[in-house]
Amino acid sequence: MEDQATPQPALGTVLPRFAGIATFMRLPHVTDPVGLDIALVGVPWDGGTTNRPGARHGPREIRNQSTLIRRIHPESGIAPFALARAADLGDVAINPCDVADTLGRIERHYAAVHAAGAIPLSAGGDHLSTLPIMRAIAKDRPVGMVHFDAHSDTGDRYFGDCRYTHGTPFRRAVEEGLLDPRRTIQIGIRGSLYRDDDMAFAEASGIRIVKIEEYFRLGPERVIEEARRIVGDGPTYVSFDVDGLDPVYAPGTGTPEVGGYTTYEAQRMLRGLRGLNLVGGDVVEVAPPLDPTGNTALVGATMMFEILCVLADSIAARRPSRTS
Ligand code: MN
Ligand code: MN
Repeated sequence: MEDQATPQPALGTVLPRFAGIATFMRLPHVTDPVGLDIALVGVPWDGGTTNRPGARHGPREIRNQSTLIRRIHPESGIAPFALARAADLGDVAINPCDVADTLGRIERHYAAVHAAGAIPLSAGGDHLSTLPIMRAIAKDRPVGMVHFDAHSDTGDRYFGDCRYTHGTPFRRAVEEGLLDPRRTIQIGIRGSLYRDDDMAFAEASGIRIVKIEEYFRLGPERVIEEARRIVGDGPTYVSFDVDGLDPVYAPGTGTPEVGGYTTYEAQRMLRGLRGLNLVGGDVVEVAPPLDPTGNTALVGATMMFEILCVLADSIAARRPSRTS
């Protein structure tokens, strides 16, 4: 496999970037994860949304905006498509009528990706999508997580006894042994609360919570130093909810919260994850119908590229070194 050329995005100096069928980063579309190092997957689903839907339309618009992205990272010089075999694996076949059925469909889809030895990088979809992804890739051992979000997403029950919403995935993931709370850091937390004990589970479980006041006090570099200390060298997932950003930069999301970090600060933080033992990532809660400018999807695509670069670097670092 190493001897074969890695799949390359269509080159914008040959095929104009406004032409052709839009795939993630202009990569080839494949239907089989076997042979891939990184599978880019869309989860067009907002069945976990409790207020303003629209994230089901995220993957398609992120694909469109991702055609603006070129091959090489401008700052780190990482060339992800040379370091790793990456392709667009299409969308999960979700069922918009049934949450429980869809959770199973997503898990099975990612179980096949995981069995093929590929690492998933996903475009959501609301944040409930991350739970079945973790069920597929963290079954054998819990993962740590660097989580960018205005919300902790560790709620328990909504509307009576509803346990599966985009406000509950990480409580479920901790309960199910998929997520190690002591290797988890949440960055940008600031949404107003329902009750004064909303954060009790996250705090008691040992999750490192960086509320927005602490974020601005420390700045992105020191926050990422702290993230690296928390996750250590164990397997680590990166989950980027665009509502962690200030809604000035990403208004197209279901649960905006003013007073967040900038796109540039988020890019610096994602770049700072280089060298960690990364096993997957996602960008979630991009809701294009709530942002007619299209910028939120461009932000989502760009953050996906940032994560892709550090994932590819991590894969290359784990690969046994080749002679000749
Ligand atoms: Mn979230
Ligand atoms: Mn959020």
